[in-house]
Amino acid sequence: MTEWLISCDPRAYNLDGAFEKLEAIDWKQSTNIEVGDIVYIYVTAPVYEIRYKCIATKVNLDAPDIDDDGEFNLEDESYQSYGRYMELTLMERYQSDKLRLQRLKDNGLGTVQGPSRITPQLSAYLFASTNTLTGEGMKRYEGAEKIFEPDPEVIAAEEEEEARLLQSLKQDPFTGTEDDFAYQGKPRKKRAGYYNGRIVYPRDRQTAVNALAHAHYLCEIDEAHETFIRKNSDKPYTEPHHLIPMAYSDEFSVSLDVEENIVSLCSNCHNLIHYGEDARILLEQLYEERKEALERAGISITLERLLSMYGIEA
Ligand SMILES: [Zn+2]
Ligand SMILES: [Zn+2]
Repeated sequence: MTEWLISCDPRAYNLDGAFEKLEAIDWKQSTNIEVGDIVYIYVTAPVYEIRYKCIATKVNLDAPDIDDDGEFNLEDESYQSYGRYMELTLMERYQSDKLRLQRLKDNGLGTVQGPSRITPQLSAYLFASTNTLTGEGMKRYEGAEKIFEPDPEVIAAEEEEEARLLQSLKQDPFTGTEDDFAYQGKPRKKRAGYYNGRIVYPRDRQTAVNALAHAHYLCEIDEAHETFIRKNSDKPYTEPHHLIPMAYSDEFSVSLDVEENIVSLCSNCHNLIHYGEDARILLEQLYEERKEALERAGISITLERLLSMYGIEA
């Protein structure tokens, strides 16, 4: 997934009007934008702000859908003979001083001419500043979130993160353990970092340890599942697993790295949930046990959506 910035002259195209009426618009495509790419739209004078976040839902179209979009095209005669179009589906609408030209320039924006790839610095700024917008500052559109799927690279990077966490819990002193841990029962704010050119969501070691303590260091599929005492502690060995994978963090407005989303599994069940043919049975059980706790942590998800994240059809 690549993030792009395109600009719109409000005297040539009535973007506000179009998005009042339409969930998606057809736009001139001059670069190799791919389906799933994120496209921010900067509105030029007299607005000077990023106003919209869209996702490219179709690309390389031969013609725009004039029946829908034509009335919003105010001036640009080249629109109908441009040659290549993409469909942009609205995800978020903003109205915030944080997204005005000067603030964007202060945070890595080079030019607003033509489509350009968003730099890592600007990407991190947009993520951080839009993430804190509420009410008038931002409106989210539900439809677009459903089509969100992370890149295979993002999934691979998150799997590496999990492996790193497990490694640290195996090798380093297993500290920070309590005999019991109570859920806080409230949403936690997302923390994002920037690593190797992409946004990553760090996993907190103590949060994982708390989640294991909450399960009394037993397998949550069946407490009778065999485990063993750790070499680095007197606690039984189980592994933390994020029920909703961290790679799907962008789909949620709150952190997925919370105790409520981390289950304690024996080695066998942990491998089964990742690689097993029967993963569905485990997921159905864990979903039923956790869905209310997840809700209290601000995380709403259906069983169907959870299964789909594991490549399982409902
Ligand atoms: Zn796992
Ligand atoms: Zn187990």
